[in-house]
Amino acid sequence: MKALRWHGARDLRLDEVPDPPEPRPHEAVVEVSWCGVCGTDLHEYLEGPHMIRTGPHPLTGAAPPLALGHEFSGSVLALGSEVPGIAVGDRVAADPVWRCGVCYWCARGEYHICPRSGSVGLASPGAFAERVTVPLAGLTRLPDNVSDEMGALAEPLAVGLHAVTRAGVRPGDNVLVVGGGPIGVAVVLAARVAGAAGLYVSEPLAGRREMLGALGVTEAFDPRTADVRREVFLRTGRIGPDAVIDATGVAALAGQAVATVRRGGRVVLAGVGHGKAEIDMGQLVFYERSVLGTLGYRFDIPRVIGLMSAGRLDASALLTGRFPLDGGVGVFEGLAADRARHLKVLLTPKGL
Ligand SMILES: [Zn+2]
Ligand SMILES: [Zn+2]
Repeated sequence: MKALRWHGARDLRLDEVPDPPEPRPHEAVVEVSWCGVCGTDLHEYLEGPHMIRTGPHPLTGAAPPLALGHEFSGSVLALGSEVPGIAVGDRVAADPVWRCGVCYWCARGEYHICPRSGSVGLASPGAFAERVTVPLAGLTRLPDNVSDEMGALAEPLAVGLHAVTRAGVRPGDNVLVVGGGPIGVAVVLAARVAGAAGLYVSEPLAGRREMLGALGVTEAFDPRTADVRREVFLRTGRIGPDAVIDATGVAALAGQAVATVRRGGRVVLAGVGHGKAEIDMGQLVFYERSVLGTLGYRFDIPRVIGLMSAGRLDASALLTGRFPLDGGVGVFEGLAADRARHLKVLLTPKGL
């Protein structure tokens, strides 16, 4: 079968590889319909390895070269064990997180922070391929009214839903989202589902602010020309937002988020950041603010699919491009040259 494999930084190749083997008891094999390009994938492409291990992954044993891709939908080809409610041939989305299943965190249901965890497409061959092996426990059947394209968007939306859950957003809250890229838009959509009354976004790109306006956010500010902290403060009865959710991962913005959230409010860092952030301790302690990290999701993908099926979550604004897997190398090159042109791009091995 064809697979778009990572061989090293700036070295993606459309390779001919063997089909996945028969699934083991905790695995399933899925025939891929669509798979989204994530910021993580671009990061690996541009300057990896980051999440990819150069040697065998401690849990899966997989090593590069391997296919990227962890945001996908498809249909079940083979099940390693029986699963209630899922049969061969069913259309599915999948939680791509491999977990050990026995550690302290897995036992608590916090499999997303299992020390040995890893994702399909980073810790094992991914879904930029015709077929992919996935964790059996992660399968969710797609209802008839959720398309394969929308099913592939469930994973990034789950990241937004988990961040909003971490932020404790309640009906009527005011929320500021920093960054209107794919994660920011997923957070916006999830915050609205959670009942946010005031939904503010800080985003420097005019095109993205326009799109956010069309999505119905309360107001989208350009942080280069507006004092976002003050503008949101004035629009929230001189209180400030209940939650600030950073979707940029830019270390310099963390301290600003702390200074912006209301007294007693929560800052959630959802962007993938690495550097050191400077936070004024007085801003935290004297105003009893909280700063939390958020990683991926846990059990959020089925919730997203339920919301989509119920008509409560329309993810179509995220989807800005569809391409055949055959042209995948060019798609990555294009995104690397101009990330702002797209929010979420999907690739399909089935042809358009
Ligand atoms: Zn992702
Ligand atoms: Zn574990």
